[in-house]
This record gives sequence, structure tokens and C-alpha cells, in this order.
Amino acid sequence: MGDPRGFLKVKKIAANYRPVCERIKDYMDVFLMRDENVSRDQASRCMDCGTAFCNWGCPLGNYIPEWNDFMFKGNWKKAWRLLDATNSMPEITGRICPALCEYSCVLGINDDPVTIRENELAITEYAFKKGWVKPAPPKKRTGKGVAVIGSGPAGLSCAAELNRKGHSVTVFERDGKIGGILRYGIPDFKLEKNILDRRIAVWKKEGIRFVTGANIGGGYKFAKERFDAVCVASGSRVPRDLAIEGRELKGIHFAMEYLTQANRLISGEKIKDDLINAGNKKVIVIGGGDTGADCVGLAHRQGASCVVQIELLPKPPECRAENDPWPKYPMLLKTSTSHQEGGQREWQILTRKFIGENGAVKKISCVKVAFEKNAATACPVMTEVPGSAFEIESDLVILAIGFLHTEKTGFLKELKAKFDKRGNILTGPGYETSAKGVFAAGDARRGQSLIVWTLWEGREAARNIDDYLKS
Ligand SMILES: Cc1cc2nc3c(=O)[nH]c(=O)nc-3n(C[C@H](O)[C@H](O)[C@H](O)COP(=O)(O)OP(=O)(O)OC[C@H]3O[C@@H](n4cnc5c(N)ncnc54)[C@H](O)[C@@H]3O)c2cc1C
Ligand code: SF4
Repeated sequence: MGDPRGFLKVKKIAANYRPVCERIKDYMDVFLMRDENVSRDQASRCMDCGTAFCNWGCPLGNYIPEWNDFMFKGNWKKAWRLLDATNSMPEITGRICPALCEYSCVLGINDDPVTIRENELAITEYAFKKGWVKPAPPKKRTGKGVAVIGSGPAGLSCAAELNRKGHSVTVFERDGKIGGILRYGIPDFKLEKNILDRRIAVWKKEGIRFVTGANIGGGYKFAKERFDAVCVASGSRVPRDLAIEGRELKGIHFAMEYLTQANRLISGEKIKDDLINAGNKKVIVIGGGDTGADCVGLAHRQGASCVVQIELLPKPPECRAENDPWPKYPMLLKTSTSHQEGGQREWQILTRKFIGENGAVKKISCVKVAFEKNAATACPVMTEVPGSAFEIESDLVILAIGFLHTEKTGFLKELKAKFDKRGNILTGPGYETSAKGVFAAGDARRGQSLIVWTLWEGREAARNIDDYLKS
């Protein structure tokens, strides 16, 4: 621990963002990197606790107190080596991880937690600047081949780990570019795609083979026999729909259709479908989560005249509730950078029907709802508030109400993969599916989650695949 009194002397410096009036006019990253000296100062706030709850809070088990200490002392290389040992894409988590670790930081009990995520980013960007993130191909190849299906963070971290162990890895991706939701879901104003390309370039030089436009089970010929093991990392992309009157009207889209199209356009790709553009439109985003927030940010950039985000559930508390104690990751109200840019947020609203004119959506009919606990089961029961029905005008509705499970495409059937009750791919504790030698990782296995969880899953699947190949 560099400075035992650091947390008493140095106050938290909150993340810095570009001014709203400026950033709303473009798609560039809203976040501003802070100075390296500020990061070192911030790292001195880490108390190097005897039991590092932050390390427990991070799904990857990042060595947080250790790299904070190294960074504070100016030993960036050692900090980088430790970070690189547990995290395959710290330049991504350092930017957009919800920082589960910071909610379990001991300093956070009665002060602001250490800015762990920004410290992680500072170390990573320093390492890239110094040229320490360079291709390190394995010295020897094992002669074993592994196919990874899907190039989101789960597939990529699995591929990177297996490649480091000397196996020959081919990543098959049905899209035109590598990255999964990092590429086509998350908007550029949260994650510019050159950050992703920089990492993929390193992995290519390390020997990972990437095949794009390869829809396994959907036209692309894939000979499973050519590989000694397969890892399915196909994500959880089947969107939850709202099967209510008027759903067929024009102007109602799933969030991923909307976000993907915008990301393609920004990167200069051609789009096949009709353009979904919020310009001068009254936009309603149904769903109060992070995906919905990304849609709010995009609608503002496209010049929407009005953006309203509605959510069925009650507004979460702004500080920890008693049943959500430290060091757990709490269910709190999240105000993202997109929310800071404008729009209105409403909670406890049920959408009853879409109302249209000439085949296109014009309004949505809603009602306020209340939640009460059932006396016998203690489960919350939703009821409509009498006399609270109302309508909101809208000519573009975005459905951001979550995802069900992975797409159960042909190859999963061919493999005779089994699914759990929620429709995710069922595996044993070693990530192996019901088909021998076929493993699964990421959202396809655990349901729609977070980047940090899927990176962990990819790495764990790789560890198990390596054991399988060695046996
Ligand atoms: C809009 C949005 C914003 C998000 N923002 C954040 C955030 O800010 N922070 C955070 O931590 N998490 C965020 N998440 C969650 C996070 O992005 C996901 O949990 C993560 O990307 C899942 O990784 P994955 O590799 O399992 O799947 P995905 O990223 O979904 O990748 C799966 C890949 O498999 C490919 N594929 C599927 N089937 C086939 C097939 N048959 N053949 C070939 N390829 C196939 C798909 O094309 C895709 O590229 C967000 C999610 C969404 C939807
Ligand atoms: S990956 Fe996320 S949870 Fe882990 S240390 Fe980084 S910011 Fe914290």
C-alpha cells in the first residue's frame, strides 16, 4: 500500500465527460480520459484492505488493490501485467463496465469508493501507449483445433485464452465484422469501434483465425469433425416482444434493430432494411434499462423532437435499501450519460395498445400500475390504478424490454444441445453441453448479462476446453 493515508488526503474525482451541447451533435465517445497523474493520485485512495471485497465484487477477480498500488508507485508495467493476467479486454471494461467492484469497495461504506474502473482504463491505455500490448503468439502449437461460434466478448476471450495455450482457434461470426454487441449493439458514443479493432489486430497477429459472414446452421457449411472442440458463444439475442394490439403498425422496432442499423451506418456499412430515423420524431422507448438508455442517446443524436422512456417497474431507490446491503451489487437508479442529455423518464407504466393512422403508429395507450405484496406469498402483485389511463403521442416506438435466450438455430438442434428452463444452453459445471466436446459460454449460456461476466465465462470455458483437449 503506497500511501496509508491516501484515502484521507485525496477525494474522489468523478469521471469527466464532454459537454452535452457538444457531444449530442456527434457519435464520438462522450468520456474524457483523465491525466495519468490524476489516476495515480486516485489510486492512492485504495486502502489495500485485508479482505479485498472489490476483488470479490469483480467477476474476473481482477487484482485491484495490487494494481492500484503499482500504479500509485509509478510501476505501470507491473500494474499492466497483473491486469492482463485476469482480463482479456480491460480497454472495454475500463470504459463501459458498470464497475460491480466499486459497489463492494470498503471505502464506499462511508466515503466515495475508489475509481477502480477508471484506474483500470488508465493502466490499459498507458500499456497501449507504451507498446506493451503486442502480439505474443504461442511458442508451440498443440496440433488441436477449436471452433468458436460467435465473436462477442465471450467468444473472443475464449479464443484468446485457447490461442495462448497453443491451440489453433477459428472464430466463426455471421456478421460482417467481429465484436458481437460490442460492435453492433453498443453505440459509438459509449464505445468507439477503433478500440475494438486495435485489440482484434493484436489477436490476428497472434494467430487467431476470424471468419466473418459465417452463419453456422444458417447456410454456412461447418464441419464440426474438423475441430477437436467447439465453443458456442452465440449470445442471447431473441428479443422480448410486446404482443399487444397494434404491434403490427409501422414505426415499432426492437432496440437491437435500431442500434445495429445506426452502428452500421456510422462505420460506413451498407444497410438493407428501411432506415429507422428518429429525426423530428416523437420517440417512446419502452424499457427502462441500459439498452433503452442507449436508444435514448441515439434518438437525441438523430434529432428527435421528444424522447420519453417508460418502464413498468417502480423507480429504483437512489441509495442502498436495507435488503440490498454492502458489499452486494445493489439495484439502484441508474442515470446514464444518455439520460443526462435530455428526455423524460417515467416508471410504473403499462403499455396497453399501440394506436395507428394509415398503418403507422401515432400514439400509445397506457395506464399507471401499482405493486402490492401478496400477503400469503410476499410476492409483488401488479394492479392497474383505476382512472389513470392516458395516451402518449409517438411516431417511433423502440422496444427495449430485454432478451429471452439464444437463437435456437439449426446447428444447436443438430448438436442436440439441451436448454435450461429459461431457454439458455444447458451445460455442466465444466461448461460442456450435452454434446461431447461442445462447450458454451457467455450470454448463450447464462442469459443476457454484462461484458465482464461474459469475459469471465469465455475464459472459464477456455480453461475447461484446454483440460478436455489435454485429457
Ligand atoms: C444495447 C446493449 C448495450 C449494452 N451495454 C453494455 C454495457 O454498457 N456494459 C456491459 O457490461 N454490458 C452491456 N451490454 C451487455 C453485453 O453487451 C452482453 O452481455 C455481451 O455482449 C454478451 O457477450 P456474448 O459474447 O455472450 O454475446 P454477443 O455479444 O451477443 O455476441 C454473440 C455473437 O454470436 C454471433 N452469432 C450468433 N449466432 C451465430 C451463428 N449461428 N453463427 C455465427 N455467429 C453467430 C452473433 O452475430 C454475435 O456476434 C449491453 C447489451 C446490449 C444489447
Ligand atoms: S472489470 Fe468491471 S468489475 Fe472488474 S475491476 Fe474492472 S470495472 Fe471493476
